[in-house]
Amino acid sequence: MASSAHRNGGVPRGALKAQTSGSNARQSSFKSRLAPSSSPGSAVRRSSPASLGGGGGGSFKNQDGVPGRVRVAIRLRPRSAEEMSADADFADCVELQPELKRLKLRKNNWDADTYEFDEVLTEYASQKRVYEVVAKPVVESVLDGYNGTVMAYGQTGTGKTFTLGRLGEEDTADRGIMVRSMEDVLANVSPDTDSISVSYLQLYMEYIQDLLDPSNDNIPIVEDPKTGDVSLPGATLVEINDQQSFLELLRIGETHRIAANTKLNTESSRSHAILMVHVKRSVTGGEDAPSIENGNSSHFIKPSKPLVRKSKLVIVDLAGSERIHKSGSEGHMLEEAKSINLSLSALGKCINALAENSSHVPVRDSKLTRLLRDSFGGTARTSLVVTIGPSPRHRGETTSTILFGQRAMKVENMLKIKEEFDYKSLSRKLEIQVDKLVVENERLQKDFEDEVERINLEAQNRISEVERNFADALEKEKLKCQMEYMESIKELEERMVSNQRKHNRDGFFDDKHIEEGLGSSVEEASEIRRQLNDEISRRKALEEEINNLKSRLAQCLQPRENGGGEILRLHKDLEDEVHERKKLEEEVIMLQSQLLQMTLDTDQPRYLDRGAYRDSFNGLNSPTSQDQNPHYRSNGNRQKASAATLSEQVGLQKILSLLESDDANVRIHAVKVVANLAAEEVNQERIVEAGGLTSLLMLLRRYEDETVRRVAAGAIANLAMNEANQELIMVQGGISLLSMTAANAEDPQTLRMVAGAIANLCGNDKLQQKLRTEGGIRALLGTVRCGHPDVLSQVARGIANFAKCESRLATQGIRTGRSFLIEDGALPWIVHNANDEAAPIRRHIELALCHLAQHEVNAKDMVSGGALWELVRISRDCSREDIRNLARKTLNSSQTFRAELRRLRVEY
Ligand code: ADP
Ligand code: MG
Repeated sequence: MASSAHRNGGVPRGALKAQTSGSNARQSSFKSRLAPSSSPGSAVRRSSPASLGGGGGGSFKNQDGVPGRVRVAIRLRPRSAEEMSADADFADCVELQPELKRLKLRKNNWDADTYEFDEVLTEYASQKRVYEVVAKPVVESVLDGYNGTVMAYGQTGTGKTFTLGRLGEEDTADRGIMVRSMEDVLANVSPDTDSISVSYLQLYMEYIQDLLDPSNDNIPIVEDPKTGDVSLPGATLVEINDQQSFLELLRIGETHRIAANTKLNTESSRSHAILMVHVKRSVTGGEDAPSIENGNSSHFIKPSKPLVRKSKLVIVDLAGSERIHKSGSEGHMLEEAKSINLSLSALGKCINALAENSSHVPVRDSKLTRLLRDSFGGTARTSLVVTIGPSPRHRGETTSTILFGQRAMKVENMLKIKEEFDYKSLSRKLEIQVDKLVVENERLQKDFEDEVERINLEAQNRISEVERNFADALEKEKLKCQMEYMESIKELEERMVSNQRKHNRDGFFDDKHIEEGLGSSVEEASEIRRQLNDEISRRKALEEEINNLKSRLAQCLQPRENGGGEILRLHKDLEDEVHERKKLEEEVIMLQSQLLQMTLDTDQPRYLDRGAYRDSFNGLNSPTSQDQNPHYRSNGNRQKASAATLSEQVGLQKILSLLESDDANVRIHAVKVVANLAAEEVNQERIVEAGGLTSLLMLLRRYEDETVRRVAAGAIANLAMNEANQELIMVQGGISLLSMTAANAEDPQTLRMVAGAIANLCGNDKLQQKLRTEGGIRALLGTVRCGHPDVLSQVARGIANFAKCESRLATQGIRTGRSFLIEDGALPWIVHNANDEAAPIRRHIELALCHLAQHEVNAKDMVSGGALWELVRISRDCSREDIRNLARKTLNSSQTFRAELRRLRVEY
């Protein structure tokens, strides 16, 4: 037995060799061995199913763990007073060799068995030392996250309760392991992150009673089917924050224990007292914390790994280990007695099985072994103190206690940290984190949307600005191109026309000659004026003489008888005088008209202008420069006065008759007077009634010299201002006469008069067809050959008048088909002169173009003839708004124009 015990003890002894020099060294050594929590490999480990060995133990053999044999210390109680006297003559049954950690159990006076323990505590060992040797390493392990068990085993009265449960109220040195353990625990935990809670139970006859709530006397053991963990959810759990409340709890528990035992008619030595200290500590995990990082979000704060270590310190004050018959269990039935010790004997069996590495450990045989399954062969650090008394009277019980301790020393535990994720804490932290992120995300989302909106708005503004600028620039560039385009076309056309003109030019107007002529005319006029005055005085003298003769004749007639010969003579004289007078009168008329003509030629050769321009353009023209100039106005008045005077003096009929005078000079002067009279509207009717129009046309027909024709044409032009006269002119073949005159004229002024006359006729709706048929348009266009601006102006006016009438007739549906102007080839000239420098020409042509453009039938010719560009130009550049608008309107209303503009990519 001794050798066996010795042998059995030898194995652990070897393991303890290094821990022999003092408790401090042992403690530090214990700690160094029990510091797997700092090892990264042990960071996350679930509590494994506790097991007292066998198949259950195999479940965590593959996992990391620290081997931790059950530590066993033996404590010897000092002799009690009773023993002092009763055993006075006997030596103690045990001899302790604490320095060798050996105990000698005397068999007799000469023989003893020697047992080795992890600690051998003599009767002098202080409570403090006992705590430090037995419990403190376990408490430290519990604080590190391991389960721990401190258990006292021994015969009743050997000091189990003394060792574990003394409160030390009278003498603090007496404080037992429970009190000192809690002191250490409380000193090492943080109330912010850790929590300590305590249950205090009693196990009696397989009933678990709550010492903190005596009414709760049958607490079931609950095993987690997955982990095998054992718990007592029905037990009262009191949170401990300070030592005082713990002491109070122990007192209450003790009171309740006494009360319960009284009630059950038992003693505390029959029951097992179990103190469970639950330690929950929060620790921060290492680098291998599970990452829930999402993407690259810089806003995410990686939460530290929240771990919680849930460990349990179980301090068990076992019932007395003595056999029942010896402890005097009077009053109890045998079955009851068996039941009382069922748990204890089951514990012994389990420890035996574990010590022998038996395949079956009867853990489930009792509630105590179920509760302690983690303490023996499980994952807890377990320290057992076996208490013995010195009395040789109890050698048997002492021996069995020692042997129990020896077997317990063979039980190997695999210490494992009880660490797990603090899912609640993690969840709480993550929820806070998620809420923060949600808020942040919403804020960022809002910022983002605002930013997008702002950028969008800015971009739209920029785009519209760029578009606007681009459109402006494009429009400008387009206009520039169009203008250049039109300019170049126009230049080409001008070049073409000037080339043609170069070929056709001959005998043009000689300005110099005219000037010379005018100079001599002034002198001539004063000479004629002088002669006229002479003639007038001569005529007056003659009239006086005639009067004298008349009175003499009357006297002569009275005395008839005075003789007929005298009468006849006088009669003959009279006739001579009358003839003479007639001749003089003719001469006077001639001189007067000559004078008139000279005056006109000198002062203002264009005496017809006023009539020719006036009232002919439907208000287009402002009053002529002549009308505005006082000098011209006075000249005009003088002409009027002279002509009127002449007409009064001579008589219109007489003057008209002179148009047919044999004398060419007379005819010239007469026609000038008539023309001058015709310039006045008041005279026109009289002139026509008196046959003046016929006479003037006759002058053209007679093919008189050019002066006569020029003046006659001027007079006709003036008469042609009157609508009634226009028809008369046409009826009397005026168009062909004017055409003929135009064809043969060399003087630009003649052409101007003819053009003016035709231009007036062009304004008559009724005469359109006839005018054209008789060659009026061609004649009008023919006059432009001289290139004189006055002529061109008249031509432009005529064309404008004609186009206007045509347009009017077309609108009324009377006229269909292309414009006669286009048919007779007027378009090239129109286009060429459309932008003439002279405003009257330009405006007439612009108007004409607008009239022509109003009728789609002309559009094609206008496009091909280049008139479209002029219309475009007019629509943009014309200084008169009404013409601009008209041009724009016509451009828009014509499909042909629009198509052409589109084709040429001209935006209109
Ligand atoms: P058990 O709980 O094992 O039945 P107790 O702890 O009640 O034994 O001890 C029985 C008696 O012995 C008590 O009076 C106790 O004070 C005393 N006693 C036990 N151990 C010691 C000790 N080491 N030193 C002094 N007195 C002790
Ligand atoms: Mg006791």
